[in-house]
Amino acid sequence: MPSTSATLWIVATPIGNLEDFSPRASRTLAQVDVIAAEDTRYSGRLTRHLGIDTPMISLHEHNEQARIEQVIDRLAAGESVALISDAGTPLISDPGYALVRAVREAGFAVQAVPGPCAAIAALSVAGLPSDRFVFEGFLPSKAGARRARLEALADETRTLLVYESSHRIEKSVTDIAAVMGAGRAVGLCRELSKLHEQSVVMAASELAVWLAADDNRRRGEFVLVIEGAPPIERADADIPLDALLAELLSLTGTKQAAKAAARLTGRPTNEIYARALALGE
Ligand code: SAM
Repeated sequence: MPSTSATLWIVATPIGNLEDFSPRASRTLAQVDVIAAEDTRYSGRLTRHLGIDTPMISLHEHNEQARIEQVIDRLAAGESVALISDAGTPLISDPGYALVRAVREAGFAVQAVPGPCAAIAALSVAGLPSDRFVFEGFLPSKAGARRARLEALADETRTLLVYESSHRIEKSVTDIAAVMGAGRAVGLCRELSKLHEQSVVMAASELAVWLAADDNRRRGEFVLVIEGAPPIERADADIPLDALLAELLSLTGTKQAAKAAARLTGRPTNEIYARALALGE
């Protein structure tokens, strides 16, 4: 490892199995001057397990702004700092983005000690297309906002990765089936790398039934891997835009019609929306 001084190290930690802790991650945590951890009590157990006694400070979503100055002061004094979250890769649905940005802007080095990330682990086992994918983090917790988000993602052709908790897994899968289609393939990866690890892939509606059938299937931590929407064949470019828009406007509202026409013709949505408004006048 190069000199650790005046560097912020972004260190990934296991998402379940402590054997996944890499020797490099362990060495980095032992060598830095201070570890900034999301939950110092939780991470303290981890470092004790590794025999590391590096001092820790907390850095979580409620104090990140306040901590930034302290971390930059330490880096300016030539110290090195490691950032870890409770599990997996910091910044991935975890705190750290504001810190990394500020540290870079202040001119200090930021280096990664890569390792586990639940989203990538799920993608690697689900057997759904992995060449292009979109990470969505957590879906909104409120039903209306969640369905609106799923609506906005319904036409996405790339594989979607979503984090979910045991409280909402059943509702989210039910909403995915309702909004994205009962037949949409969904991979559910539960407790990855832990004792009760389980990965299944089935049609969204079947998955909702499968989840409802057994309380144990709703326990633990989840990643959903949602198959992308099938690409829409573009209409013959010779169809006049106005005729296409008129047909679509007879079926749905201006916004939806413009969105569909943009996808069918490959032309920019704002241009088509303006034309749709003009036709509706
Ligand atoms: N930074 C982490 C990472 O790199 O994966 C994610 C942190 S986020 C706060 C926690 C969520 O990640 C959980 O609610 C769950 O959706 C997912 N997750 C974490 N560990 C997991 C595991 N072992 N199996 C399945 N999902 C997991």
